[in-house]
Amino acid sequence: MATATEKKTKVLELKNMIGGEFVDPADGSMEDVVNPANGEVIARSPLSTKEDVDKAVRAARDAADGWAATTPAERQALMLKLADAFEERGEEIADLESMDAGKPRNTTLEEEIPPMVDQLRFFAGAARTLDGKNADEYMEGHTSYVRREPVGVCAQITPWNYPLMMAVWKIGPALATGNTIILKPAETTPVSTLKLLAEMLAEIYPPGVANLIGGHGEPAGSTLVTHPEVDFVSLTGSPETGKWIAKAASDSLKRVHLELGGKAPVVVFDDADMEAVAETIAGTGYFNAGQDCTAATRVLASKKVYDDVVNGLAGQAKDYKTGDTFDESTLLGPLNSERQRERVEGFLERKPDNAEIVTGGNRPELPGYFLEATVVAGPDQESEMIQQEIFGPVITVQPFDDEAKAIEWANGTKYGLASSVWTRDVGRAMRVSAALKFGCVWVNDHIPIVAEMPHGGYKQSGYGKDLSGYSLEDYTEIKHVMVNHS
Ligand code: NAD
Repeated sequence: MATATEKKTKVLELKNMIGGEFVDPADGSMEDVVNPANGEVIARSPLSTKEDVDKAVRAARDAADGWAATTPAERQALMLKLADAFEERGEEIADLESMDAGKPRNTTLEEEIPPMVDQLRFFAGAARTLDGKNADEYMEGHTSYVRREPVGVCAQITPWNYPLMMAVWKIGPALATGNTIILKPAETTPVSTLKLLAEMLAEIYPPGVANLIGGHGEPAGSTLVTHPEVDFVSLTGSPETGKWIAKAASDSLKRVHLELGGKAPVVVFDDADMEAVAETIAGTGYFNAGQDCTAATRVLASKKVYDDVVNGLAGQAKDYKTGDTFDESTLLGPLNSERQRERVEGFLERKPDNAEIVTGGNRPELPGYFLEATVVAGPDQESEMIQQEIFGPVITVQPFDDEAKAIEWANGTKYGLASSVWTRDVGRAMRVSAALKFGCVWVNDHIPIVAEMPHGGYKQSGYGKDLSGYSLEDYTEIKHVMVNHS
């Protein structure tokens, strides 16, 4: 396998894809994109401004009526072609996604490409399953029925942790239900979207149905989400950006769909399978260098097994080898940017005095933005590293006395995206699952995601569901039609 440096052939000149055409930004501004595993420039990306946003929204608006009039079967056929293209170009996707986001290439190939293909195939099929209330006579001489219609033009903003998978979760339900889209990837990870996804969408979909633009949150993102011709905004990102978008959208009352991260508690009772606990928590806490909104990074362990959990995780952490992301033995990639690494290190520097860094916490001697797999034992419930999303390879462990305290602490942050409970006691598993205020609870596992089931938050993790039939409902309007035939 070639190393990341050998793999790099030339700096890619990215363009916006608007109305099926690959175009430079109106004012010609571009910026360098670096590989976070080695700091090398891999691409130059467009910095879109109002003019580009206007053009992209116009293209999406012009295509909207024609696309909304297509049949579910037609939309299914195109999405199946897109899924096939993802499968055929899997190796290319893994190359670019790994260079762009610093992911171990092998993990991307095995853990991200197959689910993306499957999710697109799910959305393709789901396009044909939407239903409404059956037609009936609720008033004499009048027949009512429900039409499900696309919302219209959707602005979609993706984050840097799973650039292409989050794009799939957004374009899948939107296009399957007959909406047109303008999607903006995160500024540090635009490559797979503006290069590969753009090529596939331009080849498969009619011009204007799917448009992609590069740029920062300000001005590209903010101009896009506040555009008067945009009907729906979907963001996966930080709570700050989500709140800003929700406020900005209140002027026009356009619909908003927000996935704003999490602080997943992993509640381990003393009857759990300790080997499975350590292996699964490390595997899903350090996956994608912990830059995952469902990452198993906040462990609550019964006092009786607290030491076993801390030691088990510390043992696992030592196996998380950092290094060249194109080396098949690398398990832990870098943080996405120097800014993100400094942010994660800040949490470790400010850790409470009574908390102990059991293992990790240092920068390996590598050129990129790496940080060792880290375990922190004993931080207080109110400490910043328990309350805030760290978004790095840092797993904390807290000891609890009883079930009530475990539930109180698990629910005791502003987030509510995902959680897990580990016990062999079925009654306790069901009781705790019901008490946890999260959009997802796994029992004796953590992180598996299936296309058929919803992913989305409670509380400040946001609202709206990704994946499953629920996501398609979010992208549709319900219309009651009543026919007077008396
Ligand atoms: P961010 O919210 O600033 O960026 C996410 C996306 O939103 C990017 O595409 C960005 O360009 C865009 N954006 C930013 N401001 C915008 C605006 N005003 N209007 C429209 N779009 C805008 O997130 P960040 O600063 O890159 O990351 C900070 C923290 O957010 C991370 O450390 C992590 O805790 C969290 N985060 C969560 C997720 C998740 O999966 N939920 C993903 C990325 C980051």
